[in-house]
Amino acid sequence: MDDKKEQTRGEQLRKALLYEKKNGYDRVDTAELEAMEAYCTGYKQFLDAGKTERECVDRAAALAEAAGFRPFTRGAELKPGDKVYRINRGRAVMLAVIGREGLENGVNIGAAHIDSPRLDLKQNPLYESEELAFLKTHYYGGIRKYQWVTIPLELHGVIVLKSGQSVRVCVGSGENDPVFTIDDLLPHLGAEQSKKPLGQAIPGESLNLLVGSRPLRDDEGGDRVKLSVLELLNRKYGITEEDFISAELCAVPAFRASDVGFDRSLIGAYGHDDRVCAYAALTALLQLEVPTRTAVCMLADKEEIGSEGVSGMRSRAFDTFMEDLCQCRNVPLRACYEKSFCLSADVTAAYDPNFADVYEKRNSAFVNYGMGLCKFTGSRGKSGASDASAELVAYVRRVLDRAGVAWQMAELGKVDAGGGGTVAMFMAERNIDTIDAGVPVLSMHAPFETVGKLDCYMTFKGMKAIFEAV
Ligand code: MN
Ligand code: MN
Repeated sequence: MDDKKEQTRGEQLRKALLYEKKNGYDRVDTAELEAMEAYCTGYKQFLDAGKTERECVDRAAALAEAAGFRPFTRGAELKPGDKVYRINRGRAVMLAVIGREGLENGVNIGAAHIDSPRLDLKQNPLYESEELAFLKTHYYGGIRKYQWVTIPLELHGVIVLKSGQSVRVCVGSGENDPVFTIDDLLPHLGAEQSKKPLGQAIPGESLNLLVGSRPLRDDEGGDRVKLSVLELLNRKYGITEEDFISAELCAVPAFRASDVGFDRSLIGAYGHDDRVCAYAALTALLQLEVPTRTAVCMLADKEEIGSEGVSGMRSRAFDTFMEDLCQCRNVPLRACYEKSFCLSADVTAAYDPNFADVYEKRNSAFVNYGMGLCKFTGSRGKSGASDASAELVAYVRRVLDRAGVAWQMAELGKVDAGGGGTVAMFMAERNIDTIDAGVPVLSMHAPFETVGKLDCYMTFKGMKAIFEAV
């Protein structure tokens, strides 16, 4: 008798016709698991070095320089294999590897954002109340305010003096640095606060950063704690209170990126959205030799507040960079755009079994199932979405499958539950075929977000396949 039973008709049909989703860990070999770990170690270092868009730009530029990239000057000659980058006002960066084909055949773009939700300082932030010194904050991006109290926070950013001199600030990440925090009520006195809806329990104006308590000695005047803090700041940074007016200072979580879980299969950190995709796009680009089509990586600022402003994806800075590239090769920008492809690399929501009622399980992205592909984002009736065409989705399926990338389709949540956007629509507006894809995240926009290592690595692999696609 034969060992192998003959498949029943049902079994044959199931195998041939049904779409089977598979956990990524059932698809990778040992070599790939090792590559994944090495990749994630680099990613964690990138996260710890870049807690603001400016720091991410610095880190990206350093990695690019080390990989042979040079700042691009308008009018410079470019030949296949040349690697160039341009920084936009210290807060966004564009990089390109020139391909064998002309730019009239279009380029492959990977676009991600490097700004993350946080607490910005107001322009007149420092005050003293009952002999405690605080800094007023103004939140940036969509945060759940209750998550930002009673956690350690660092202060990062720049203060630009009236003279134009720029002073970098980074307190909290050094070995012996102090941290800051925002206080909250004790449960013993929190009865009334606890009755409030989650969104109202912590008002925005109560997100005040505790920065000191020690009064100036041998002084009879007022605001002795504030004055003492200012004296310290003056000694360290050469600033006076008025200089806060021209400062960009952000309070960001003081957590370091760490492995999560007994099996270390996850990474917990601040800023996965969207540095996890930014790092994937960047490192995939840095590994290219001479691609067929020119590859472009765009790391944008201001996505969390609508991509507005001079460093956001809506800024002409991107078009100017692209036009300068095209001009070197005598190609009209519009001809390049209409043949180009953009993968808008941004995170998506991972299905969370603890909050199952907001997800639609059949169309959700799952941790460890790979890069999440979104045909559209937006909210309600696809409002604010750049709905990628069926042709484009088929193209991406083809590219990712050929490269052995674990991927899955992803929709943020239930149709009526909410929604969100990315930079995709601003690329599509430029007449560039665009689709969203990225890493599924648990607790998105929280001070400590969680992602699966396998999904990080697969997104890198997917980005590389997109850049190398012909
Ligand atoms: Mn994002
Ligand atoms: Mn976001």
